[in-house]
Amino acid sequence: DTRHNILLYLEGVNKTFDGFKAIDDFNLYIKEGELRCIIGPNGAGKTTMMDIITGKTRPDSGQVWLGSRLNLLTMTEAQIANAGVGRKFQKPTVIGCLSVWHNLELAMAGPRSVWATFRAKLTGEQKDKLASILTLIQLHDHANIAAGNLSHGQKQWLEIGMLLMQNPKLLLVDEPVAGMTHQEMDRTAELLIGLAGKHSVVVVEHDMDFVRSIDSQVTVMHQGHVLAEGTMSKIQQHPQVIDVYLGG
Ligand code: ADP
Repeated sequence: DTRHNILLYLEGVNKTFDGFKAIDDFNLYIKEGELRCIIGPNGAGKTTMMDIITGKTRPDSGQVWLGSRLNLLTMTEAQIANAGVGRKFQKPTVIGCLSVWHNLELAMAGPRSVWATFRAKLTGEQKDKLASILTLIQLHDHANIAAGNLSHGQKQWLEIGMLLMQNPKLLLVDEPVAGMTHQEMDRTAELLIGLAGKHSVVVVEHDMDFVRSIDSQVTVMHQGHVLAEGTMSKIQQHPQVIDVYLGG
């Protein structure tokens, strides 16, 4: 079975907007626990591809599966999220006036009212889980700080932590290091590498130094299609990639 160990499976996916082919016979296979970077120039179709995975956009044709059982094209956005697909957008959406801890607590509860969440006491197990994620995102010393007072990088990590509270199988991460310092970028690479194994992680990123530091398999998108796939050192030598992207 060629789909053995594949968590996310996209095959022959097409999407046209007003006659313009944004996604063109696109294939992507992400293994269980794999960390994959996706790069490509503006307009390559990266956002549309993520929107198709999360159910925000429906393709015109093709296959999109989570594992061998879940046909994502038959599911709503909410169902896809509940099935274990978490997405981190570029702009953080943490609640600034709440503490780091309370942001994580809210994220664990999912879409419930704030009051219902804080009225219910956490079980010991839930507290342990929250504490371990706090350590993972390196905010254990900041649990009681209002999220609004965190640095830009810390807010991004908190948001990744909030996604982790939902036990996602697949994490889609959009430009995680935009606006970060070099030190924050290094920590983010460490964090994402640490998540692989337990979760499949797909990172869309423009920063080449960051992608190089992650050192995972890289998919290069161009005009809605896969132009090249391989390690950064391999695709850097791909003439077409140099033409359309790295050399441009
Ligand atoms: P990327 O994220 O790689 O920059 P996008 O997926 O945002 O690329 O866009 C791919 C192409 O599809 C672009 O040319 C964009 O203008 C077009 N596009 C994306 N969404 C829409 C839409 N809702 N309506 C019309 N065109 C769209």
